[in-house]
Amino acid sequence: MLDFGLTGKKAIVCASSKGLGLGCARALAKTGVNLVMCARTEETLAQSAQAIRDETGVSVDIVACDISSEDGRKAVLDTAGHVDILINNNGGPPPGDFRDWNRDDWIKALDANMLTAIELIKAVIDPMIDNKFGRIVNITSGSVKSPIPQLGLSNGARSGLTGFVAGVARQVAQHNVTINGLLPGQFNTDRIEGLIDAQSRAQNKSREDVRTMLEERNPTGRLGYIDEFGFACAYICSAHSGYLVGQNILIDGGAGNANP
Ligand code: NAP
Repeated sequence: MLDFGLTGKKAIVCASSKGLGLGCARALAKTGVNLVMCARTEETLAQSAQAIRDETGVSVDIVACDISSEDGRKAVLDTAGHVDILINNNGGPPPGDFRDWNRDDWIKALDANMLTAIELIKAVIDPMIDNKFGRIVNITSGSVKSPIPQLGLSNGARSGLTGFVAGVARQVAQHNVTINGLLPGQFNTDRIEGLIDAQSRAQNKSREDVRTMLEERNPTGRLGYIDEFGFACAYICSAHSGYLVGQNILIDGGAGNANP
């Protein structure tokens, strides 16, 4: 039997009522981790949490909040108390033309996809160091390695987080505290449906044609499943993964650069 060594640990999984965050929450729960899940819409969050409790028997607390806000982060941290694992995730910035983005748009993207994660890392890291165990995973994007032209706000904010974390990860690794990035390519979630909508309008193609094009472009011939993403997250968080430090792991079905 493969034991991840995580039974009874406590994880905060941000933005986890749906999509990639939910995949991570579900996978961690299957390894025996108790959860604090958050999202803005209470109803969906409560349903997802109950499904995880029913399936795995772990304890799941929920906090309906905007994780980009100071109040939201405080509520999540207060609910968790002790934190062994932090999965940073948030909604992604909208696509568009960089000429249309003003300072407010940039600050919003930086707040959501860079500074929120940094604030949460700051809040949990010293207790993790004292405890000689901590696992932090930042869900960013394949755009960190291969920037996507129409997702400039995302490219910029996520690269900022990735650069910051590259340094901190090396400062804390000696304490068995790891920080890594998990970079999704294209997964079957609401977010990808929004991008399919935008592409179908921009290219004057049907949604089905855009989806088929995305699937055919991927070496696997499909988009990813959130449970595949979650499994990778659980692996990074395993008690046996203390030597995996400061990496940015791309899960994209091989769509990215084919260089080794
Ligand atoms: P998703 O399916 O739309 O799910 C987003 C989740 O985050 C929902 O549970 C949503 O619930 C919650 N959420 C959004 N904003 C929040 C906020 N301010 N505070 C708290 N919770 C919030 O999105 P996803 O596809 O899983 O994407 C997750 C992240 O990965 C995004 O940043 C996205 O840009 C990035 N990403 C995704 C893909 C992909 O293929 N799916 C590829 C590259 C990068 P509420 O709306 O109820 O708050």
